Amino acid sequence: MSLRKLERGAAVVLALSTIVTTSIGAQTPSATPLADRYRADATRLLAGALSDSSAYNRLARLTDTFGHRLSGSASLEAAIDWILAEMKRDGLQNVRGEKAMVPHWVRGEESAVLVRPRPYKLHMLGLGRSVGTPAAGITAKVLVVSSFEEFAKRQSEAKGKIVLFDAPFVSYGETVRYRFSAASTAAKAGAIAALIRSVSSNSMQNPHTGAMGYDSTAAKIPVAALSVEDAMMLHRMSDRGDDVVVTLKMGARTLPDVPSRNAVAEIVGSEKPDEVVVLGGHIDSWDVGQGAMDDGGGSVAAWEAVRLIKQLGLKPRRTIRVVLWTNEENGSRGALAYRDTHANELNKHVMAMESDNGVFKPLGYRISAPDSAVTIARDIASLLSGIGASSVAPGGSEADVEPLLERGVPVVDLAVEGTRYFWYHHSEADTMDKLNPRDVAECVALMAVMAYVVADMPGTLGRAATH
Ligand SMILES: [Zn+2]
Repeated sequence: MSLRKLERGAAVVLALSTIVTTSIGAQTPSATPLADRYRADATRLLAGALSDSSAYNRLARLTDTFGHRLSGSASLEAAIDWILAEMKRDGLQNVRGEKAMVPHWVRGEESAVLVRPRPYKLHMLGLGRSVGTPAAGITAKVLVVSSFEEFAKRQSEAKGKIVLFDAPFVSYGETVRYRFSAASTAAKAGAIAALIRSVSSNSMQNPHTGAMGYDSTAAKIPVAALSVEDAMMLHRMSDRGDDVVVTLKMGARTLPDVPSRNAVAEIVGSEKPDEVVVLGGHIDSWDVGQGAMDDGGGSVAAWEAVRLIKQLGLKPRRTIRVVLWTNEENGSRGALAYRDTHANELNKHVMAMESDNGVFKPLGYRISAPDSAVTIARDIASLLSGIGASSVAPGGSEADVEPLLERGVPVVDLAVEGTRYFWYHHSEADTMDKLNPRDVAECVALMAVMAYVVADMPGTLGRAATH
């Protein structure tokens, strides 16, 4: 999930879903209905994707072998080395790592211990980009509030304390502002540290990390997430009038930027090689769990889609390029490096597609493009009706393709069954066992069919409005 989106506020996320687009530059699709033209190819792609568990197995190999992949970690770079070698073995063309400098935040040792009213080790994770505490930690009384609104009324009580924002989960877009802004909000009232209830729609004592940000006008104080269970317990203690005291220790540090890479491979177009369909996911993750859902799954689904197109001997007229972006979680530097490295080609990028909501049962697509393109996408998606995945909704944009959308590239993302994603994401529970080989294979099929048809069809999706 996007740091850039968070920095620009949840309102922008909502606005993106209703982005105004224009049909300037759209070309008329072939007189032959698109679905009929590509039905046989789509059937082969679907059968190929669903014939085995190769995508699930590749994702399991990636996550079991390398584990989590935080920017700046050796495991991220080792995973990228392996991916590039495998892409070559797959017979893909122009396999390369494209350099991006990425932030290097490290968690260090950390703990949060309840001192009063009873000794208890809290389930916690420091938030990404947070500063650490002094070595002895910070011991202070805890002020518990439910919301920024309640805090605004009680901020005179915050001086010298640790403030816990125990905000119930409403939606990710709505509730994530506590993760992003709790520290600076509390610091402006004189607090010395902040805690949040993990941003999660369900919990089994698994705290969730994620990116936070500091307001330049506030002191930088450390901030961590508690499990939902522990945050609610401290809230109940506080409501009963107990003195709640916590010792927070965090060894978090931000080291100098380090080089990383976007992993890139292609099937070069047979007639229009300079026109490009991009599809991918982000290969970095947080430093907990395995990043199986966020976003190893999206990365492998896009990669397997391109491998499948190649394996079936399909030769698209335009170039299909898979990009596994680095550093989405705490910087989006991979996305920005891609945009800048390919700045002169972006007017010939005919589509950019990303999956970053977990590789659960796919329902269809979301598309930010002219109205005429939505019609074309619906025609293409009708080829997936056999697996119940032909819904197409306007709007939407994932973090790594958003900079391309801003330059007019039509953007597509996968709509997947969304119940469970926020149970696991950014926590130790983001692991392979939550995924289903059939769901992963269906995600591969969706990416393969959309990428291949858009890369081969007579017309294009036009251009999205630039902003
Ligand atoms: Zn993600």
